[in-house]
Amino acid sequence: MTPNVLNFSGGPGALPETVLEQAREAIVALPETGVSVLGMSHRSEWFRSILAEAEQNLRALLGLSDGYAITFLQGGSSLQFAMIPMNFATAAFAPPEYVSSGYWSDRATSEAAKVTATNVAWDGRATGYRCLPDLDELDVHGSAAYLHYVSNETVEGLQFPNCERRPNVPLIADMSSDFLSRPLRPDLYSMMYAHAQKNLGPAGVTVAVLERSLLERIPDGLPAILDFRTHISHGSNFNTPPVFAIYVLTLVTRWLRFEVGGLDAMQAVNMEKARRLYGALDCLDGVVSIHAASAWRSQMNVAFTFGDSRLDNAFIATARERGIVGLEGHRSIGGLRASLYNAVTPNAVDVLADALVEFGARRT
Ligand SMILES: *Cc1c(COP(=O)(O)O)cnc(C)c1O
Repeated sequence: MTPNVLNFSGGPGALPETVLEQAREAIVALPETGVSVLGMSHRSEWFRSILAEAEQNLRALLGLSDGYAITFLQGGSSLQFAMIPMNFATAAFAPPEYVSSGYWSDRATSEAAKVTATNVAWDGRATGYRCLPDLDELDVHGSAAYLHYVSNETVEGLQFPNCERRPNVPLIADMSSDFLSRPLRPDLYSMMYAHAQKNLGPAGVTVAVLERSLLERIPDGLPAILDFRTHISHGSNFNTPPVFAIYVLTLVTRWLRFEVGGLDAMQAVNMEKARRLYGALDCLDGVVSIHAASAWRSQMNVAFTFGDSRLDNAFIATARERGIVGLEGHRSIGGLRASLYNAVTPNAVDVLADALVEFGARRT
């Protein structure tokens, strides 16, 4: 990627330029070892120190207590859709509850249903996935194994506000597209997970943060690789982990912690980016429509359309002339989507906002 390409891709997403430069150098020879990162042993001292640093950075960024374990997994968030019910939907509890509020949470819900009986606590399909429920007001069975939701619906561009209250059952959140984009209260969750390729690094690694007390519920007899305890007890080094992806994730967390200055600072930048883009779209009221109802607009993914696929495609072509790429909407809903992940700069958002206003003005 040349620095003047502005990447708004929904995922894999943009990464900070300084991280890309370090990754390029590491592919040839790591500064610390002189060996290519692609040929480093996962049993090396160097990789152990990378795993330890990744965990330390995540703990510092989230303000995570020792009551939580962090582990790095493969199989993406889609594997979590299966592993979570296998590990936690046990016979001692009522069926887990699922919030189905968009494309990804619907996938999580239907995958879980292949493993266990489930309850759908809320379903937004009939209303086109344009709004979200209040998590506090859901009618959840008091002994449900857990409540699962997706904090940011990447496809439709809907985002839950930060959780403020611990629900009466363990809360599990797929945060794949907004993890580390804003501060949160980790103590409200029993599990948070996010694959790297939206906001944290390249595809190939998924971060899982698990409350240790939840691990006691895992039944014996699961295949070792599908049991969270295996990965935690082996320090995320049970079988060969994705060394390169974890290395780049470590660089991204280092960047967030020491260059950006933490999640409060990151959130301030992200709020400003979202304000500018939604501001431009609101100026084009009647010309473009935003998929999300205004109370639920995501700061990470902005899904919108000119209402006609020819116009959407014409805008994609115009934007490309300015170096903007990655605006195609998800295949399930079409239209356009601008993803404003952490590494997307305010300057890139300004270029996009200007392009939108100019393009839209010719159509009013
Ligand atoms: C992209 C996405 C997924 C899919 O993740 P994979 O790593 O491709 O399995 C799951 N959940 C959310 C919220 C996503 O945005």
